Amino acid sequence: EDQSLLDADRIAGASRQSGPKPVGVLAVVGRPNVGKSTLVNRILGRRVAVVEDTPGVTRDRVSYDAEWAGNDFKLVDTGGWEADVEGIESAIASQAQVAVQLSDAVVFVVDAQVGLTDTDQRIVKLLRESGKPVVLAVNKIDDAAGEYMSAEFWKLGMGEPYAISAMHGRGVGDLLDVAIEALKKADKTSGFLTPSNLRRVALVGRPNVGKSSLLNQLAQQERAVVNELAGTTRDPIDEVVDIDGEDWLFIDTAGIKRRAHKLSGAEYYSSLRTQAAIERSELALVLFDASQPIADQDLKVMSQAVDAGRAIVLVFNKWDVLDEFDRQRLERLWNTEFDRVTWAERVNLSAKTGWHSNRLAKAMRTALESWDKRIPTGKLNAFLGRIQSAHPHPLRGGKQARVLFATQASTRPPRFVIFATGFLEHGYRRFIERSLREEFGFQGTPIQVSVHIRE
Ligand code: GDP
Ligand code: GDP
Repeated sequence: EDQSLLDADRIAGASRQSGPKPVGVLAVVGRPNVGKSTLVNRILGRRVAVVEDTPGVTRDRVSYDAEWAGNDFKLVDTGGWEADVEGIESAIASQAQVAVQLSDAVVFVVDAQVGLTDTDQRIVKLLRESGKPVVLAVNKIDDAAGEYMSAEFWKLGMGEPYAISAMHGRGVGDLLDVAIEALKKADKTSGFLTPSNLRRVALVGRPNVGKSSLLNQLAQQERAVVNELAGTTRDPIDEVVDIDGEDWLFIDTAGIKRRAHKLSGAEYYSSLRTQAAIERSELALVLFDASQPIADQDLKVMSQAVDAGRAIVLVFNKWDVLDEFDRQRLERLWNTEFDRVTWAERVNLSAKTGWHSNRLAKAMRTALESWDKRIPTGKLNAFLGRIQSAHPHPLRGGKQARVLFATQASTRPPRFVIFATGFLEHGYRRFIERSLREEFGFQGTPIQVSVHIRE
């Protein structure tokens, strides 16, 4: 048990530290199969934290915290989304655009074994228009004998081609040295690093649910642009909005106002952008059009926010046009489609008339309080001891799994690590999670419970 205590303290301590400020945001781009994911994994591989092993925490992320030679930076992976998209051309255009908007410098990956392609040339054109610094990585050069293959890529006019093997790690260190230098020199326009002591809010939901209307309703005349995109567009990204006497930072409002922008591959693009806004936020306002059936896309956006571990306020909009039938339909849905998030804060309102929009601030504050909440270790263990004696884990094959000790490893959202002897069944984990909520609240925030088994 002493050992569990040590481990728990180490985990708690490690995740509580907030590291030095990142030097910038680096995006990895390139056409499919050149080895982007392999490279991203290679760069991140050495830093997988124990608490992040919890399923659902790190999946489908756009940005990751990375480190090289004492420099912390953000790594943006635009690769994992291509499967959703029809049409390689539009996917590539969207990918390059997102990468440019979210990053301060770009690693452009090409494939030595395939050689230079037309698609590579088109990506170069897009990257060049963006004006972002680009480092060229020629991948799949697995040994010294293959190094001559990188020479061909001088033709791209992107400067020195760095021969790497993402798979074996060859040359990746040199590439990172150059990329970090480029980051340090780059203008920081990515928005990921916007300094602010305001609470950060992502306003998300599928098109036409009323995001722009709600933003306008809340903001009235009070809007202040905090951060503008560099280069091709002058749209504001982040805006300060005064709600109920308190300032909040709304993330990526350009993504909201320009949703109808005529980009091919728009769906891919907006999904990536939503994900990035969620990652930058502390709280997600997830909007639904209550006058319409709930669509898969609605639930997908909600899951993105929940899986990212953000404080959650679900907003059912267009309440002004609902009749009794609609309201009953929604209540039924609440018990089915939404049963996974019954803990979320919920506000029914009308962005159009302003009805109930004054209820938002309270819901947002409640959700963030829960998100920040820390349960002292003594209290937590006393509570777990009580529920365990009242409801012990079922006996399996004559064996009794048992919780030894637990600690809250981090907040934002609350994460708990439980040390147990023997395997805790899914049902029992759920029971513990439910009991934690009943005892301590956590209204408006996801909580995560991971179990470490000691034999
Ligand atoms: P992405 O689509 O750009 O993310 O590419 P992946 O990372 O999924 O890699 C595509 C394929 O190339 C996979 O089969 C990888 O195993 C392979 N690959 C990636 N990096 C290397 C490398 O450095 N050398 C070799 N020989 N193969 C690689
Ligand atoms: P966005 O795509 O999520 O930004 O949605 P918009 O704010 O552009 O709204 C889409 C449509 O829904 C517009 O025609 C709005 O006027 C309408 N709308 C938004 N909020 C409300 C509301 O509370 N009630 C009604 N009746 N219509 C609304």
